[in-house]
Parts: sequence; structure tokens; C-alpha cells
Amino acid sequence: MLVSNMCPISQEPIEKEIPGTADVVEIICPTCGRFRITGSAIIGLKVHRLEVRAEILERAKEAAREGEIPQINSGHL
Ligand SMILES: [Zn+2]
Repeated sequence: MLVSNMCPISQEPIEKEIPGTADVVEIICPTCGRFRITGSAIIGLKVHRLEVRAEILERAKEAAREGEIPQINSGHL
């Protein structure tokens, strides 16, 4: 799946984007770090302010287990 070359959280250009499984993409952002996000979550994030988007990412990071890449899905929105 292709998404724009902007981070869905901080709206800055991202370094790398690796297609993941199914509807998930992996993003490596200089500010937000490495995380995965579903296509529906990318769309859902658009209605939120930057502060809220950053909180959603923080929650996904807290929910990730040790060594696991955080993933944002619709349930976090
Ligand atoms: Zn970012």
C-alpha cells in the first residue's frame, strides 16, 4: 500500500516506508521513530490536532511489548 511521504503524526517528510502486511505500512520518522500504522488509522488521524496525534502514538508505544514495533490501528483513535 502506498501512502504519502509525510509522517501521519508529525506531518514531516519521512525517511523510509516499508510496505508491511495487508493494510499496514511501516514508517520511520526522524521525530516519531519507527512505527506501523493501518490505512484506516492514517485516514482517521487526519481529523486530529498534532497534540492528539502525538498522544495516540505514545499510547501505541506504551502498548507495544519489549522489542515490538508499535502499531497504531483504528482502536487507538
Ligand atoms: Zn513523525
